[in-house]
Amino acid sequence: MKAQRVSPDEGLAPWAAWETLSRGRLHREESHPYRGEYQRDRDRIVHSTAFRRLVYKTQVFVNHEGDHYRTRLTHSLEVAQIARTVAHRLGLNEHLVEAICLAHDLGHTPFGHAGQDALNACMKPWGGFEHNLQSLRVVDELEDKYAGFPGLNLSYETREGILKHCSKRHARELGELGERFLKRRQPGLEAQLANLADEIAYNNHDVDDGLRAGLLTQEELDSVEIFRERHEAVLEASPDISRRALIHEIVRGMIDEVVSDLVEHSEAALEKARPSDIEAVRRHPRPLIRFGRVTANRHKNLKRFLYKSLYRHERVLEMSDRAEGVVTSLFDSYMNDPHAMPRDHAARAMDWAETQGDAGRARAVADYVAGMTDRYALAAHERLVGATPDIDTQVQLPRAQHD
Ligand code: MG
Repeated sequence: MKAQRVSPDEGLAPWAAWETLSRGRLHREESHPYRGEYQRDRDRIVHSTAFRRLVYKTQVFVNHEGDHYRTRLTHSLEVAQIARTVAHRLGLNEHLVEAICLAHDLGHTPFGHAGQDALNACMKPWGGFEHNLQSLRVVDELEDKYAGFPGLNLSYETREGILKHCSKRHARELGELGERFLKRRQPGLEAQLANLADEIAYNNHDVDDGLRAGLLTQEELDSVEIFRERHEAVLEASPDISRRALIHEIVRGMIDEVVSDLVEHSEAALEKARPSDIEAVRRHPRPLIRFGRVTANRHKNLKRFLYKSLYRHERVLEMSDRAEGVVTSLFDSYMNDPHAMPRDHAARAMDWAETQGDAGRARAVADYVAGMTDRYALAAHERLVGATPDIDTQVQLPRAQHD
């Protein structure tokens, strides 16, 4: 007997993103017989080229520094895991929140924020480079997978969630999707949740990675209340615990604390506001997915600590300097000679240069460089410039692999 397909919105809270109330896709498509629209979005993201590259892109640590550090891929999976847990509990749309989380970092350059800063500086004369906008560009335009349209043709709500921040200038160019940045509206709850799940994930996994790398010590971290309390509680319950298990127990305890707080305070805010549907959520003056004040502060203090002690650690900054050098010289080389890029990218640079001048050529070069993985960028740099700074890699990739 065939299972009956129930309504895709069955079981969702009224304020969740209901498929039946979706603002739809840029290009109209027939519905699928047994997959919902947000499930299809998630599936398209998982099957995209940009998603597969996340495994070789740095989160904070260059991924070949060790096999156990988070990469953008494992980070995205952790974000999705946290967000789905909360979504399930709040009656939100799990498929949608998963799609947003898996796509949220697709536009990141190689080498983490150092790469983005360098590319932004290179693109200054032509509107800059912003990884959030680039994630949207990847799913709207750059993925070349379907016969009927460019990009992945994702649903409005998935795209709304991917576009976390946006300047007023860019918002004006984005039409309906940019409106909320001009009118100070909120995105749907799934987008609000993905945003906070991202923060929860990186704050906590960066503690784990930072300790693993020896850039942070437990003693230093004990200056942060949320860490110290967990540390003491775990040691009291299990005095003989191994160092690895100790760190994991602390990190999972911190995640549990902030996630539980998020559930509790979001539930209370939703109960109070009782938005009738996603449009009422968008009109609400404040985000309704939120931490309580105490936990928000504890969480913020951890973030502040990481900023000071990890992201600005001399070893991380040293890597960042070198990475910025690599990205900048790749950009300059391809600007001078677009034909040094693979054929498709070179053709696009020439086409766009014809219609938009240098700005068009620069955008095509930025798209190409932003799409690179860390190791591909190093291999390309080696090929173009010869001497490559020691970010360490033995990897030599054939040109075709990145076409
Ligand atoms: Mg992220």
